[in-house]
Amino acid sequence: MDQNTPVVWTPNRTEVAPAWHVPTLGVALWRGLQCKCPSCGEGKVFNGYLRVVDECDHCGAPLGSARADDAPPYFTIFLVGHIVIPLMFMVERAYQPALWVHAAIWLPLTIGLSLGLLRPIKGATVGLMLKLGMMKPADEMPLARPDA
Ligand SMILES: [Zn+2]
Repeated sequence: MDQNTPVVWTPNRTEVAPAWHVPTLGVALWRGLQCKCPSCGEGKVFNGYLRVVDECDHCGAPLGSARADDAPPYFTIFLVGHIVIPLMFMVERAYQPALWVHAAIWLPLTIGLSLGLLRPIKGATVGLMLKLGMMKPADEMPLARPDA
């Protein structure tokens, strides 16, 4: 090869199909919202309150490879804020209750909604990540969990 001939690198763009079933986006989100495996809809997503199982016990999809990180709390805060804040303003405008009444209503509601929605939202996030092909083994992540 001539020294002046440019070397052209051609990236490998062949898509490798995952070994597990990838449903449509709506199905993956719905199954995740139900805290079921987004891939098969049979197995569980969680082992505990928020700990994602390493693999689906029904189909073997590597759900633990979905590193949702801060996305589920972000989505939960966004959603709960858009539910609680308008309700708070509507109650204030209609009844002008004392501050302790506001606190007695909105603090438990905010905590309850947050704790109740975080789990299904995290399940849906795992479903979204499965659909988008964002499943990465822990050893490919720059900051692997010490327990993984
Ligand atoms: Zn499964």
